[in-house]
Formats: sequence, C-alpha cells, structure tokens
Amino acid sequence: MIDVEAPAAPDASYCAGGWYAGCGTCACCGVELVLEPGRSRWFCGKACSKRWRLNHWWTEARRAALKRDRHCVKCGGWKRLEVNHIEPLVGAGYATSCAHHAENLEVLCRSCHQGVTKDQAAARRAEGAEFAA
Ligand SMILES: [Zn+2]
Ligand SMILES: [Zn+2]
Ligand SMILES: [Zn+2]
Repeated sequence: MIDVEAPAAPDASYCAGGWYAGCGTCACCGVELVLEPGRSRWFCGKACSKRWRLNHWWTEARRAALKRDRHCVKCGGWKRLEVNHIEPLVGAGYATSCAHHAENLEVLCRSCHQGVTKDQAAARRAEGAEFAA
C-alpha cells in the first residue's frame, strides 16, 4: 500500500493558504500542479480559478455576495444595497486579498451600512485610545 500524503487542509476550500500559495500548488484547493516548463499556473482547473476569484477579487466577490444575500442582512431591505466587510479592511483597500472571502462579506442597505461603518470606526477609536497615553 502506498501512503499518499494528504494535502494540508486549507482553512477554506477555496484558499490554499495566503493569497497565493505558489510553488506548484493550486492556489485554491492546494493540489499539486503539473507544470509545463516555462509556464506558470495558479490553479488546477477552471472551477478552482473561478471559485478563487469569487473569494479574492473585489469586483467578483462583491457581485457574488449580492447574488447570495440579495437583501440587507440587517433589515431585509433591498434598496441601495452595498457590500460590507465584516472584518473591516482598514487601509487594506480593495486590492485582491483574502479579505474578500465570501464569509467576510455581507449585504447591507446604505443606511445599515453607514451604521455598521460608524460602529466599526468607533470600535477602532476605542482600541486606539487604550494605546494612547
Ligand atoms: Zn484546485
Ligand atoms: Zn438595512
Ligand atoms: Zn484567501
């Protein structure tokens, strides 16, 4: 019997660790890739590349979140929907990153979003105050 080493379990199936694991493994599921000389590959196939984009590219992740929630998750409204990062971006911006994982996104209407953003900012200020002299 051959002992096949199982790939390290990623914390989410669409993210094999970090925002690019590199080194010949699929950035999405972590399987080893067959690399042709002179060509770099990130994913084992189309399904993985799509799933990965949906959880790391802001434009794709945003669209996917809107499609998933369809309503404001706080008040159930469906007008002027926006997508909120549950774990705030704080300066990280909208560059491709693990901040856009599906479970970190929620759909909010504009007024709920403003409320949440305000709370997040207040929480950050409170944390900052602890470090201030
Ligand atoms: Zn894969
Ligand atoms: Zn709302
Ligand atoms: Zn990720």
